[in-house]
Amino acid sequence: MGGYGSGRCSRKTAVEDCLSIDINYLNKKGFLKEGCQFTLRWSRDDWSASISAKAHKDYIFLYYTVDQEKGINYNVQLDKVPMNLGGYKNYFKCPKCNSRVEKIYKSSASDYFLCRDCLDLVYRSSKESGDELAKVRRKLDKLYSKLGGKWRGVYSTIPDKPKNMHQRTYLGIRKDIIKQERLLDELFCMKAEDLIG
Ligand SMILES: [Zn+2]
Repeated sequence: MGGYGSGRCSRKTAVEDCLSIDINYLNKKGFLKEGCQFTLRWSRDDWSASISAKAHKDYIFLYYTVDQEKGINYNVQLDKVPMNLGGYKNYFKCPKCNSRVEKIYKSSASDYFLCRDCLDLVYRSSKESGDELAKVRRKLDKLYSKLGGKWRGVYSTIPDKPKNMHQRTYLGIRKDIIKQERLLDELFCMKAEDLIG
């Protein structure tokens, strides 16, 4: 209930505070070629990290240590999706939920690289959260128009079920709308924090 920003801001880990691996970057560098061994390094003012990896046909093998002693190793499956104009687009499959993603992340709370959803990450930088806002807005536009309504930001109320629509379809769309509006709420919180900080 209430408008955006009225919900409580949750303290979630931001994408920017995680190590991330971008499949498009690996592809561009030629690291996805079978048998290729490589090391990825991250460093900032006060910390640095590195992981080693080896590309196999359908997966990449990651091995690294956390907390200076604990050895971690596992496979991240790759998914090659054929493109219209030929060739393939590569994706990671999240080791936890199996969803197809372009980036996997590791937060300080996780020993493994997983997708953004599994780590429950949010965006902090205004560019990324701005992109994310636009995406959520587009989704809401679409969902509302499916119900014959128009999304008007804070002032929107979810339209009643159109006469010729199945109750189940309607409830599904309703659920999607609520989910997207919650996301929007969260993104607004992030922005508000940005302004204060
Ligand atoms: Zn996942």
